[in-house]
Amino acid sequence: RPLVLSFEDVSQQRAAGQIRRDFVANVSHELRTPLTALTGFIDTLQGAARDDAAARDRFLAIMAREAGRMNRLVEDLLSLSRVEAEERMRPLDRIDLVALSRSAMASLLPLAEEAGARLELETSHDSLVVRGDADQLTQVLQNLVENGVKYGARGDKDSGANVVTIRLGVIAHEPVLRQAGAVMEVADRGPGIDPLHLPRLTERFYRVDSHRSREMGGTGLGLAIVKHIVNRHRGRLRITSEKGQGSRFTVILPME
Ligand code: ADP
Repeated sequence: RPLVLSFEDVSQQRAAGQIRRDFVANVSHELRTPLTALTGFIDTLQGAARDDAAARDRFLAIMAREAGRMNRLVEDLLSLSRVEAEERMRPLDRIDLVALSRSAMASLLPLAEEAGARLELETSHDSLVVRGDADQLTQVLQNLVENGVKYGARGDKDSGANVVTIRLGVIAHEPVLRQAGAVMEVADRGPGIDPLHLPRLTERFYRVDSHRSREMGGTGLGLAIVKHIVNRHRGRLRITSEKGQGSRFTVILPME
């Protein structure tokens, strides 16, 4: 049977092929950077710095950091591929977002504290039940809060500490979902994001400031993972940000 492809099919196939090639090139590049650092320091430790105990400790610390970066990247790649593979299967466990947020908060508090940020939970609900996957919804919160803590830090000391707020609520009628939605929102009071970047923020490896993101240990995959998890839940992700006012990442999940 002859295979007939319309023009659009062909162009879509090309686009998919291009996307895959870009992705492989990006992954290779992201892995090569820490790998180059590691092999460089191994050479130095075997050669010039062989008998220099102080240098050895310093280099080992850098090597541990680079290995950690590779580890995070591989973990995020695995998360991404798992979520993508499951995207068509809608998760159906009954999840209470209030309980889930409280427990996610408890494990994120040390991170926030270390960065000098305050972490708050705002909700008027005792429980807020959706159908979903607990681990994945926890990962959404984790990625968004980590970003709020990392990127929400205020440059100037006078304006006070960064506050990252998790807000949970309900909208009676979400126009795109055409039904009631549970709202899970993470807001920071950091420098915000230029609106120019907003449409591309959830692309894999897209960063507003690559250098700063890498310095902070980012893989560039956090928001791509969030987007795929939200898609799998048939939800919506909205990002709003005003320069100087902070950013807000709003996840809306369909409610029964
Ligand atoms: P990364 O691992 O680099 O943090 P993400 O996919 O989580 O990757 O985020 C993509 C980019 O979006 C980040 O590099 C950063 O530039 C920007 N970003 C994400 N969250 C925030 C935020 N709360 N405030 C400002 N910029 C943010």
